[in-house]
Amino acid sequence: MPLFKKSEDWEDGASEFRGAGGPIRVERARNLHPVAAALIDAGRSYGMPYLDDVNVPAPEGVGPDNLNVRDGARCSPSRAYLRPVIGHQSLMVLTEALAVKLTLSGTRCTGLDFLLDGQVHSVRASREVILCAGAIHTPRLLLLSGIGPQADLHQLGLDTVIDLPGVGRNLQDHILLTGLCFEAKRPLPPPNNNLGGSTFFWKSRSELGVPDLKFVAPGVPLVSSEIAAQYPIPPNAFSIVPGLVRVQSRGYLRMKTTQHDGPLEIQPHFLTEQADVDALVAGVELGLDIASQPAYRDLIKRWVAPTRRMSQEETVAFLRRACSTYFHPVGTCAMGSGSEAVVDAELLVRGVQGLRIADASVMPTIPSANTQAPAVMIGEFASRLLVHSRLAARESVPRS
Ligand SMILES: Cc1cc2nc3c(=O)[nH]c(=O)nc-3n(C[C@H](O)[C@H](O)[C@H](O)COP(=O)(O)OP(=O)(O)OC[C@H]3O[C@@H](n4cnc5c(N)ncnc54)[C@H](O)[C@@H]3O)c2cc1C
Repeated sequence: MPLFKKSEDWEDGASEFRGAGGPIRVERARNLHPVAAALIDAGRSYGMPYLDDVNVPAPEGVGPDNLNVRDGARCSPSRAYLRPVIGHQSLMVLTEALAVKLTLSGTRCTGLDFLLDGQVHSVRASREVILCAGAIHTPRLLLLSGIGPQADLHQLGLDTVIDLPGVGRNLQDHILLTGLCFEAKRPLPPPNNNLGGSTFFWKSRSELGVPDLKFVAPGVPLVSSEIAAQYPIPPNAFSIVPGLVRVQSRGYLRMKTTQHDGPLEIQPHFLTEQADVDALVAGVELGLDIASQPAYRDLIKRWVAPTRRMSQEETVAFLRRACSTYFHPVGTCAMGSGSEAVVDAELLVRGVQGLRIADASVMPTIPSANTQAPAVMIGEFASRLLVHSRLAARESVPRS
């Protein structure tokens, strides 16, 4: 919590759960698109509490999104953290440089090889290497360097430097149902607020302790190609999109070739767990209930997908065609202490010296909301670890 708070500059200022003065500006979405504004009204008439701030512990209700925006532009981690120090003499940023392999001396990471302008270059680390290539590419770089499940590496013909069975396993993602689509009565304005602007958290079953569904309402038709093939989508249409944010399914990723940029097998195992199917069946029903509220009745000319309420069986078939990623992959180099853990509590890769990971791949369990803020928090955590280790190294030098 202190690191989440340190990273942000919330427009209402600091509180028990919010930070102020940090690099990432966070504001409520403004100028809501009619489709996003209707989600709030529809949620309220359905019986959901209004959340003035959706970023609270165990949120349950509807409200405006939190967005990373400063002065009307996206306040990305690059803009917030990197730009202010870009001229610092101890920092060099190489764009268009692709890391292809870690270099190891025994089990110590000594640096890495990267491609720039078609040439392989090497860079040596005097202290340590910190990988932050994300939940897909960080495990790939480990595998390319011989760090991963021995059987998989052997099958690819790669030598195993460190047998770490958890590399590429434990892939978790939220599920987005890109299926519910409605034709609008009047021409819709162009989408804004990053295709959102409002959201609600709700429980798929009242017995749950915390919400497992998170909806968004983009002002455009957001439908999978399978749904579009079954239901012709008119141009002036929009979606109400259920998301499952407490997903039970666990997948994996594997390299299919030893090429550094070769195809990967990415298997999220969506909908293999009956609990996920049941939650999303409830999500489809809830989406149609929301579309039936007065706020949307004023906007909707006709239901496009589905065209009517469906039986349980039809709903399952529908959601299997509508199932998609929420773009939140995590967990492929999970932190922990068991045999599948890849990093320890200090982000150090187990069995390797001088190598840490600081990105979404270390999350052992996917958070129950969007993953960018937790990824930034992990960056803050890594930064604190480095400051501490540097101070510790300085203190161990005898003073004259
Ligand atoms: C389309 C999309 C929309 C999203 N929307 C939201 C949202 O609205 N809210 C939210 O909270 N989250 C959102 N997310 C998720 C969020 O962006 C991620 O969870 C977060 O960026 C993860 O951070 P990371 O540092 O782990 O990885 P990344 O942000 O992916 O950073 C990894 C970096 O490493 C670089 N890289 C990878 N491989 C190499 C290599 N071999 N050599 C050199 N560089 C390399 C990549 O180019 C990238 O810059 C979205 C994601 C996507 C894809």
